[in-house]
Amino acid sequence: MVVLNSVNKHFGALHVLQDIDLTIHRGEVVVVIGPSGSGKSTLCRTINRLETVDSGSITIDGKPLPAEGKELARLRADVGMVFQSFNLFAHKTVLENVTLGQVKVRKADARKAEETARALLDRVGVGAQADKYPAQLSGGQQQRVAIARALAMGPKVMLFDEPTSALDPEMINEVLEVMKQLAEDGMTMIVVTHEMGFARSAANRVVFMADGRIVEEATPDQFFSNPRSDRAKDFLSKIL
Ligand code: ADP
Ligand code: MG
Repeated sequence: MVVLNSVNKHFGALHVLQDIDLTIHRGEVVVVIGPSGSGKSTLCRTINRLETVDSGSITIDGKPLPAEGKELARLRADVGMVFQSFNLFAHKTVLENVTLGQVKVRKADARKAEETARALLDRVGVGAQADKYPAQLSGGQQQRVAIARALAMGPKVMLFDEPTSALDPEMINEVLEVMKQLAEDGMTMIVVTHEMGFARSAANRVVFMADGRIVEEATPDQFFSNPRSDRAKDFLSKIL
């Protein structure tokens, strides 16, 4: 579903992604972990072309990333992204947040878009909030709306970049539960997170990054019980 081949990216002198090779199969859930500054967010951002790459190739479902225009808008719909900051449209209701893209990018008719939106808001447990504005919701509710908004586009893959890092502790689980359900339903997912419980229970594979490189790839069991690299051992000793 997602293939990165020898991807390199610099920010000035900083070589932020170094020869990244990564294949994510349909229905697979890959958790990306690693120290702050190791390139995890940049990796996510290159996959939906919020960042360009200097060399190498990225394909989604066999097709190279389009450079611009309508094709790029469609790619962003195919690759749903959920950020640490919820990024909802503040002056639109919850329902409008989840219908807008469907009408603009997917050309859905308004009634169908609303039907889809209400079903998704129910699915993530915020159906009763449909007519409120984002600021009237808790952080956990806003993040679930952000997930519903991405899902409304009918994505082929979902990217999550530390989706629970900005949440109060008591709201983390309600968001992780929605993500676990999505994983069980077969969504292809790339998840950057420090939630090791989620990685253990939902990931098919853990990718450990450090200094712009993929240092280690393993099943969660292998990774957490028997990390091979010193970098991973050191990282785990600090967070577990
Ligand atoms: P992570 O998500 O693993 O914490 P990032 O991908 O955000 O790492 O950042 C990797 C490195 O690239 C960091 O050193 C960061 O400061 C740098 N960086 C990220 N975005 C930019 C940018 N737009 N311009 C310059 N440097 C950046
Ligand atoms: Mg980051």
